[in-house]
Order: sequence, then C-alpha cells, then structure tokens
Amino acid sequence: YAAKHAGVRHRRHHSELDVVAGEHALLAAELRAALDTGQFRVVYQPIVSLPDGRIVSVEALVRWDHPTRGFVSPVEFIPVAEQNGLIVELGAWVLRTACAQAVMWRNELGEAAPERMSVNVSARQLAEPGFADVVASVLAWTGLGARHLIVEVTETAVFGGGQTVQTVKDLHELGVKIALDDFGTGHSSLGLLQTIPVDMLKVDKSFVDGITMAGRHAVIATALIQVSNGLGLMAVAEGVETAEQAAELHRLGYRLAQGYHFGRPVAEPDFTGTRVAVV
Ligand code: C2E
Ligand code: MG
Ligand code: MG
Ligand code: MG
Repeated sequence: YAAKHAGVRHRRHHSELDVVAGEHALLAAELRAALDTGQFRVVYQPIVSLPDGRIVSVEALVRWDHPTRGFVSPVEFIPVAEQNGLIVELGAWVLRTACAQAVMWRNELGEAAPERMSVNVSARQLAEPGFADVVASVLAWTGLGARHLIVEVTETAVFGGGQTVQTVKDLHELGVKIALDDFGTGHSSLGLLQTIPVDMLKVDKSFVDGITMAGRHAVIATALIQVSNGLGLMAVAEGVETAEQAAELHRLGYRLAQGYHFGRPVAEPDFTGTRVAVV
C-alpha cells in the first residue's frame, strides 16, 4: 500500500509540475496574441505630496484583460514576458502609451497636470543595447520633456548584467529621472546609490506596513528618509493604505507617498477633485 501510495503521490506531483509548466507556456504564447489584439491597457496611480495632497506624479501600471481568464496580474505575466523576451516590445508600448498620455494631460490640464510620469522598466529592457535610444525616440515622438519622465528600476534589474549600468547613466544623461523601486528589499540597496545616478527612492511597502507601531519598521523608514534627504534625493513611501500611516510618514519627514489611501491605479485619475491632505 505504501509503495502504491508513494507512486500515486509521485505521479500527482509530476502532473502538478506539468500543469505549472503548461500554464507558463500557454501564457507565453498568449502574450504575443494579446499584444497584437490590444488586450493590454495602462492605468495610472497618483503619487501625492504629503503636506498638501497634491498629485505630483503618476505611476503607469500595465493591465491585461484576458478574453477568457479575465484580469491577469502583472506579477504573473511580467516574469513570463521577461523570460520570453516579449517584455521588450510590451515595455516599449507601455512607455509610448504613458508618455503620450502625459502629453495629453499637459495639453488638457496645463498646470493641473501631474509634473511627472513614472514608468517601470524591467531587467531585460535595461540590458537591451540601445534602450536609452528607445526612450529618447519615444520622448521625441510624443513631445514629452525628459524631465517629466521617471524610469523606475529595481536593484535586481540593475544588477542584471549586460549594459544595464551604462544604460541607466545614459538615461540620466538624457535628463530622465531614475527611481529605485521597492527600495530596501534587494541585496545591495545602499551600494547601488554609489554605482548609478539616482534621483528617487521608492521605499518598499514592507517598511510602510506596521509603521504606526513603534518598532523595526519605523526605525528603518526613518533611516531611509535620512539617507534620502542627506543625498538630496526624493523619497516616495509605497503602499500607504491608511490615514494613520500617511500622518506618521509625514511626521518622519516623508514628503511623497503612494497607495490605496490616496488612490488606486485607474485609467483616468481625477487631478482636479478634492485631495486627501495629511495636515
Ligand atoms: P511596483 O512597480 O512596485 O508597483 C506598485 C504595485 O503596488 C502595483 O501593483 C500597485 O497597484 C500596488 N499598490 C499600490 N498601492 C498599494 C497599496 O496601498 N496596497 C497594496 N497592497 N498594493 C498597492 P501592480 O499594478 O499589480 O504591479 C505589480 C508589479 O508589476 C509592479 O510593482 C511592477 O514591478 C510590475 N509592473 C507593473 N506594470 C509594469 C510595467 O508596465 N512594466 C514592468 N516592467 N513592470 C510592471
Ligand atoms: Mg514601480
Ligand atoms: Mg514599487
Ligand atoms: Mg513594490
């Protein structure tokens, strides 16, 4: 019985792996069709100034409306697109879409438009030779000034090898702002500040969670705002979900924040409506 049981378990284990592998291959194939048939869209989440609740930037986040699966999270499909290389094309599409949207808002709203558009860039895109030229041509094509664009990179992406460090330097040379995303969760967060030009730290949600309880989170969040201020960088607290967290971050010296408390990612954020002010 034991042997038979083990055999059954063994086979089941295999079939689960096959399902995962099959699912992965299926997603990979469907990504191509999704790009060709326009199943992706971009939503925008506000980044607000804590003292007055003003929306100073927005972060562009890609969404996939799958015809039969419904909503598929980027956490699921971005790694697949990274692996099969489609992220290069998808990422360029997100960049064009977001920059074009930023220009439309500037034309429509003037000074009420957000100052900056933040776009996530993956390891594979950064490693691509000529990625800075892609960004330069998107800026030229859309007419968006380089200073209005923030490129968000993660520590892992920068250490992805190839030309990544040079690419980041080239982007900065263009006048594009560089943000370190999920800051503090990688392997060499502080070291990276000496390696690449950085304009903004996006302090990871994991440090914001629990910030209202005196403890490790608050200590780390405090240390990070000191590093940021000391180096003359902008710091954004990510994943702020409550008024209490916002108030505490403001008290610790944070001036920028992002999270469901201020607004979820949506196609058309309201730049003119009432703001959630902290003080
Ligand atoms: P990220 O760049 O760190 O983006 C922030 C994520 O946190 C977003 O998830 C956002 O919806 C979510 N978020 C914002 N505020 C809150 C909050 O208060 N609470 C909680 N629980 N979550 C919050 P999303 O849109 O699912 O994206 C996940 C990740 O997928 C992004 O993390 C980014 O790494 C990647 N991603 C999304 N769009 C793109 C893209 O266009 N290109 C690339 N390369 N990666 C992307
Ligand atoms: Mg990001
Ligand atoms: Mg982030
Ligand atoms: Mg994050």
